[in-house]
Amino acid sequence: MRIDKFLSEMQFGTRSDVRKLIKTKQVVVDDEKVTSAKIQINPVESIVQVNGEVVQYQQYYYYLLNKPAGVLTATKDKKQKTVMDLFNRVDYRDDLFPVGRLDKDTTGLLLITNDGQLGHRMLSPTRHVDKVYFAKVEGHVTDADVSKFETGLLLKDGTRTKPARLSIASYQSVTNISEVFVTITEGKYHQIKRMFGAIGMRVIRLERKKMGTLELEQTLSLGRYRVLTDEEIESIQ
Ligand code: URA
Repeated sequence: MRIDKFLSEMQFGTRSDVRKLIKTKQVVVDDEKVTSAKIQINPVESIVQVNGEVVQYQQYYYYLLNKPAGVLTATKDKKQKTVMDLFNRVDYRDDLFPVGRLDKDTTGLLLITNDGQLGHRMLSPTRHVDKVYFAKVEGHVTDADVSKFETGLLLKDGTRTKPARLSIASYQSVTNISEVFVTITEGKYHQIKRMFGAIGMRVIRLERKKMGTLELEQTLSLGRYRVLTDEEIESIQ
């Protein structure tokens, strides 16, 4: 890999920022001052220093975002704000992407990474990664509905959902609103909303709480993100 590409990927700025570092003799590779942005290095084996500090190579980046309502789960959009617009200049990279999709009005846990293989694995239907959602639903969710979710529901377009766990947290007769947790292993388009639609109910708020071993903590505010811990990264491999 070219040294300018490497340093740019390691967040030392644009290629032209990096060329300035090289011109001003601030970059050293394997004890030799770098004089050209074109020299090739081995990202894993070469010892690269900028201003005397060794640059550790990091290939993959993993973030957990608490997605707010009103932003698209996409990398780019001409008109609307996307989850990538929530990243600051230092952390943003154009190879980052969200793993899976939350609707514009859905909030909660979203994994953002540049590890394409992990993305595929987490979304693969054969992996059955559990996703846990909290939902506020108009209507009275009952034990009969718990059984229907467990059996699998027939959606309007004719698809049948895999068994899902529905657990009822509360029901308020005054407002006629139920609060529930739903665990699904699939990721069909608008799945939770369509599942409640299939039993004649409407979801009025939806938040993803968990995805596999990853869990959204209360302390991460909407619109904020954090780096995954080493244990979390290990647990999703
Ligand atoms: N199910 C939905 O209906 N919407 C989401 O955003 C996620 C799951």
